[in-house]
Amino acid sequence: MSDIRVRFAPSPTGFVHIGSLRTALYNFLFARNTKGKYILRIEDTDRTRFVEGAIENLIESMEWAGIKHDEGVFVEDGKVVQKGEYGPYVQSERLDIYKKYIDELIEKGHAYYCFCSKDRLDKVREQQKAEGKVPKYDGYCRSIDIHEAKERIANGEEYVVRLKLPANKNIEFNDLVRGKVTINTNDMDDQVLMKSDGFPTYHFAVVIDDHLMEISHVVRGEEWLPSTPKHVFMFETFGWEAPTYVHLPTVLNKDKKKLSKRQGDVSVTDFKDKGYLPEALDNYLALVGWSPESNEEIFSMEDLIKEFSFDRVSKAGGVFDKDKLNWINGQY
Ligand code: GLU
Repeated sequence: MSDIRVRFAPSPTGFVHIGSLRTALYNFLFARNTKGKYILRIEDTDRTRFVEGAIENLIESMEWAGIKHDEGVFVEDGKVVQKGEYGPYVQSERLDIYKKYIDELIEKGHAYYCFCSKDRLDKVREQQKAEGKVPKYDGYCRSIDIHEAKERIANGEEYVVRLKLPANKNIEFNDLVRGKVTINTNDMDDQVLMKSDGFPTYHFAVVIDDHLMEISHVVRGEEWLPSTPKHVFMFETFGWEAPTYVHLPTVLNKDKKKLSKRQGDVSVTDFKDKGYLPEALDNYLALVGWSPESNEEIFSMEDLIKEFSFDRVSKAGGVFDKDKLNWINGQY
């Protein structure tokens, strides 16, 4: 059996963008091509962005597109259910797990409690901007003794937990599309890992879950590339092996700008409601950022599974051109 395990990990913040559909599709194609497992995990720790009904819309969109997952979150008889031995697959149901690991990180000296008010942080940021610096946390709470911090917490003070990055350390990882990436910790920020509401941030939850769910390849949009060194650093401090990273080029419009809602149809639901064939959308999206070895343009899902590999994914953003989609969809 293959050890390949990949995941699509959307945040339920609204309708599924076609850029996300492409991420799901590449994960799915890779898993099927390598006889691995494809997991659907819901990343809902940012409670301010949660949209009611988004999980259902997501699963419905994936079902329509024929992108079937093996493990994770499903909808059955109108109810959200979870299947698989690595669950729960909904992050808001994993708070105890994150708490355990955040305590471990603090214990090891790689994270610390921070009591800075929003006011103070805003002032520091303004000051740094005025000095022409890239704003980042100034480390004010780094040296607070752990016993003092615990006392302040017991007294009801609000706090977050931040990552304690060492100074001047190079973090390196290999990306299957980008090649070797190196960044120095001096250019990174002490990321908030646990918020004052007790929920982890994306950056912490993603590391814990990718490890515990034994994810072998993290395949996601390139907007996450700058965050990856923080994730790799956490894998290292926990003594865990980091997954292989694959950052996909952004889906652009014809003007080479990020495809956004203002430009018309951008959600899977838009295309579904307008009567597009899911096969046509999958076929076309697969070609936005990946080129097959042959010059073929029409592919069934089976063909895509057979041909797909990350070495033919491009670094440059892929253009989503509706005329081309219409042609594949049979609307010449
Ligand atoms: N929850 C993130 C998103 O919705 C996923 C990023 C990742 O795959 O690590 O974009």
